[in-house]
Amino acid sequence: MLNNWVVIPTCLPLVLRRCHTCASKRFRASGKFRVNANHKLLDAWLLVLCTTCGDTAKLTVLERMNVRSVQPGLLDRLHANDPALAVELLQDPVVQRRNRIVLDWENAWRLDIGGSDHLDREVIDVSVRFAARIPVRPVRLIAKGCGLSRAEVERLITEGKLVSAVRLSDKLSGDFTFTLKC
Ligand SMILES: [Zn+2]
Repeated sequence: MLNNWVVIPTCLPLVLRRCHTCASKRFRASGKFRVNANHKLLDAWLLVLCTTCGDTAKLTVLERMNVRSVQPGLLDRLHANDPALAVELLQDPVVQRRNRIVLDWENAWRLDIGGSDHLDREVIDVSVRFAARIPVRPVRLIAKGCGLSRAEVERLITEGKLVSAVRLSDKLSGDFTFTLKC
């Protein structure tokens, strides 16, 4: 039987970026956008707040973009301060590169193991899906999901009882599967 686990975001991640006012490095998404139209050119920003001093910084989302080439519906979502859009944009590698930001997902996700009774079985196959691109070490997820310590998980890997096509000790943010033989 295949078990399905899901890594689910529980809130917006922190945005790592230097604050020009207080030199802190953590910002929180305010959930608000600012849009500026100049003739037919659009600029849009996602506003983030310094977690230390509360200063606002603007992350560029659209830059001098022709109104007609903006994806239909996007403008409405920007004006409505759509929270799902903020999540999408923060995860967008183009937005991350353009604004030189890195996300901190610590304490912003949970693992849903679907109430599976897998601990009684001899062999379990688990498929892990990521609902957002959250970088986590599989070793940590498996420890959490199976109620083991990380050292115990490492030992199972060494003993060949825990196998996967991916390197379980490296951080990843994409779907993977593993098999555990108890
Ligand atoms: Zn600050």
